[in-house]
Amino acid sequence: MNKREFLKTSAILGAGTLIVPSVASSCMNSSAANGATASLVTMGDDGKFAQAELGYAFDALEPHIDARTMELHYGKHHAGYTRKFNAALEHEDFHPTDIYQLFASVSNFGSNAGIRNNGGGYFNHSLYWKFMSPDGGGEATGKLAEAINEDFGSFAQFKELFSATAASHFGSGWGWLLLDAEGKLQVSSTPNQDNPLMDVVDIQGTPLLNIDVWEHAYYLNYQNMRKSYVEAYWNVIDWNFVGALYEEAVG
Ligand code: MN
Repeated sequence: MNKREFLKTSAILGAGTLIVPSVASSCMNSSAANGATASLVTMGDDGKFAQAELGYAFDALEPHIDARTMELHYGKHHAGYTRKFNAALEHEDFHPTDIYQLFASVSNFGSNAGIRNNGGGYFNHSLYWKFMSPDGGGEATGKLAEAINEDFGSFAQFKELFSATAASHFGSGWGWLLLDAEGKLQVSSTPNQDNPLMDVVDIQGTPLLNIDVWEHAYYLNYQNMRKSYVEAYWNVIDWNFVGALYEEAVG
């Protein structure tokens, strides 16, 4: 390996280490960190957190998620969280590149709610876009399917629990499938823009799937019928991506 190749490799490995989830870092390798997990956080050339490309058209998830909701959600809401998150970090004169490490100690920033709220908003939506696909739907396969059967009894039982948890979450927030520190799958919900990586939530772990249950995620198409939106979400979930995240998290 010549010097140029070495520098290039170091840069890739360096980038990989920026996004390794702390709860799973002991069993993750650099190649895994360069896969699905690595795609969850995007840094701009300016060193700021950036919005990744959506990867599909605003109307690609119709009729389940309507184009106008996607346009506003990605173009206004997520863009706003991203901008305000970077601004909050500047205000702190603090420039973390490891968002996982930041969330693991987010309680230290109690006086700067912009980091918890907008950092969560930035990251949670970055995941949410990835969890949806025009080719989505169906069920989990492979190792993830086996783990779901083991921890929830069956895919149907997991689906029922995840849907009920998301639909019944009081107020704004998110529903989650996560892998906890003991390697067990769990379903949870978090308020506002909190997520399972944060040291302020009841159940910490590596996020594997989420659903946005803020009204802005569904109100144009479903009005007050959050349950209908949650049901429709199953038609767009990209189980290939969720499965890849799971396999990276368990090594
Ligand atoms: Mn949202």
